[in-house]
Amino acid sequence: MIVTLQAGATLKEITGVIRLLESFGASPSISRDCGCTLVTAATSRLPIDAAQVRALPAVKDVHEDVHPFKRVSRDYHPENTVVEVKGARFGDGSFPVIAGPCAVESEAQIHDCARAVAAAGATVLRGGAFKPRSSPYAFQGLGEEGLRFMADAGRANRLATVSEVMSISQIEAVARYIDILQIGARNMQNFDLLREVGRVDKPVMLKRGPSAKIEELLLAAEYIHDAGTPRVILCERGIRTFETATRNTLDISLVPVVKELSHLPIVIDPAHASGKREYVPALTLAALAVGADGAMVEVHPVPAKALSDGRQSLHYGEFEKLMADVRRFAALRSVQPA
Ligand code: PEP
Ligand code: MN
Repeated sequence: MIVTLQAGATLKEITGVIRLLESFGASPSISRDCGCTLVTAATSRLPIDAAQVRALPAVKDVHEDVHPFKRVSRDYHPENTVVEVKGARFGDGSFPVIAGPCAVESEAQIHDCARAVAAAGATVLRGGAFKPRSSPYAFQGLGEEGLRFMADAGRANRLATVSEVMSISQIEAVARYIDILQIGARNMQNFDLLREVGRVDKPVMLKRGPSAKIEELLLAAEYIHDAGTPRVILCERGIRTFETATRNTLDISLVPVVKELSHLPIVIDPAHASGKREYVPALTLAALAVGADGAMVEVHPVPAKALSDGRQSLHYGEFEKLMADVRRFAALRSVQPA
């Protein structure tokens, strides 16, 4: 609930509004956005009786919740949230690109790849050390050793790092080495995991589940925010549809919808969405045009030899060309939707 106060409300009257909201188990906060005083109660133990709040003399208007998510809603935070990680800024109108291999395969591979993507203009290095694989016999990642290689490669090339955490038991290690904790698509509704990563003082990149609605994505982000981390980056990576020409279907229309509903930044992952490297450049530029806050692409020194997702990984030369195109198109993007 958001309560707009009368311009001349006294301190005693304002305290009365806060006490009433607290009696419903809410923890209200006061802000002075839009030139007026607002008292907001994002969550409460009991339903708040709007009629009782409206009846208070200090109250001008009561905005009841229209969405089940609260803290991540634009109603509660009209300004864009900007998540800054080592110079990469998600949500300020720029278009940072996250790049790197699907999985960290060796120390040499991740260092070589980090050098190449940094030289081309990426600002965040990706690479999985704990890999969610459909088959238990497929390469599962290097584990903690891979995290150490990632951290070194990031440091050596002045790149921030992002890597997936698949379970609560991995959080401590991933948070020790990596700047952004990634929640993979398969874990988007692992609510215990969401709460635990929300307790760590690190930004989280939350990927949309393959069959999750936008509202469910935002509710998953709400778990992380509610647990203590407002620095959440959303990521669209394609959803499962009847179409089989691509690995998943990139739901590009999610971007303006999320921009309207939420203040959180949203990035696009065209690699996992399409599954084919030849579609990645066009979809990355589409993400830029539609107003996304960045993109995440997979790049590998020798995609044909990649231990995972080689088919959708760009060669260095292709990534360089894409980054040149991103810079040209970004210069044209002067107006931010929402
Ligand atoms: C990844 O980005 O490494 C990944 C496994 O993607 P997703 O969770 O979207 O399948
Ligand atoms: Mn991958």
